[in-house]
Amino acid sequence: MTPPTNVKSLRGLHTGNIQSNPATFGGCTHARLCPAPCLTRIPQRFIMEADRRHFLPGGYSTRLCPMRFHSPTAHIFVPDSLEPQAALARSTHMGIGAHQDDLEIMAIDGILRCFGRSDHWFTGVVVTDGRGSPRTGIYADTSDEQMRHIRIQEQKKAAIIGEYAAQVFLDYPSAAVKTAGNQAPVADLAHLFSLARPQIVYTHNLADKHEHHVAVALKVIAALRSLPAGARPQHLYGCEVWRDLDWLVDSDKVAFDVSSAENLQKALVGVFDSQISGGKRYDLATMGRRRAHATYHASHATDASTGMVFAMDLTPLIEDDGLDIASYVQAHIDRFAADVQARIAQMQS
Ligand SMILES: [Zn+2]
Repeated sequence: MTPPTNVKSLRGLHTGNIQSNPATFGGCTHARLCPAPCLTRIPQRFIMEADRRHFLPGGYSTRLCPMRFHSPTAHIFVPDSLEPQAALARSTHMGIGAHQDDLEIMAIDGILRCFGRSDHWFTGVVVTDGRGSPRTGIYADTSDEQMRHIRIQEQKKAAIIGEYAAQVFLDYPSAAVKTAGNQAPVADLAHLFSLARPQIVYTHNLADKHEHHVAVALKVIAALRSLPAGARPQHLYGCEVWRDLDWLVDSDKVAFDVSSAENLQKALVGVFDSQISGGKRYDLATMGRRRAHATYHASHATDASTGMVFAMDLTPLIEDDGLDIASYVQAHIDRFAADVQARIAQMQS
């Protein structure tokens, strides 16, 4: 059978472009690697000392972006072997999660929209290093460093299965992400946004109950707010992992229909064996939540989809830098509370 012409071509998978040392991939001296000069305004405080010579006093890069991140072990994996900067530059959708496996749970809409297409590309970003994750079964005796390696390998498997444009590992210890004053992850994310220029960005929702998730969402918002308005994505969505978003009133709910490619979805959430095999069935729970949302989203209509994920629209927070983040979330909670109270009052009257 002749494959459709718009299907992505994997030119051979190899690990040669996995950088094991410093997140420096040359100096981007070849224009073909970085199709557009990076003229994005980057606040001086986010520019590492070693890079300052590349920037004008006003904060504009005078040369093509060197791909540098703050963690010396940060790296990027490109499933189809394209040069890392060209791989990033083709991004249309980007997911940014705290941990390995978060993207496949929360950003499946972006992954599915890009799968098998040559004009849409999903880039994954994992912020923490996975060293502190719980371990049982065959992983019970692994060291923190071994666990980090295992989780990175699992995330690379997902990137291959999902045909990601690139998978970035910023490789921060969890504590570094939780530190509010640590601007290094913000600078890394701003740098990634300026290289990739995705139009749709998925991250954690601000009402999540995992503190790493909320911390990452705040870093993402800070990074986007550091960019000029024209360099920001069209949409920023806060998605479900720990605590779903069924509680949002329907008018606040962004509902993504993820009915397609259930086989692919199962593979993507199932590949993280180190998190699942000990008995924590994230794979079943994630697929079950999608199915439950599809059925319970509308009470009177028959199921129009077989899978659904919900998101909180965080776009207003990157359109108005003065919008208070906590107040923005509180307004969603207030509308939920009012909805509950109104229904009870209506039934009592
Ligand atoms: Zn997580």
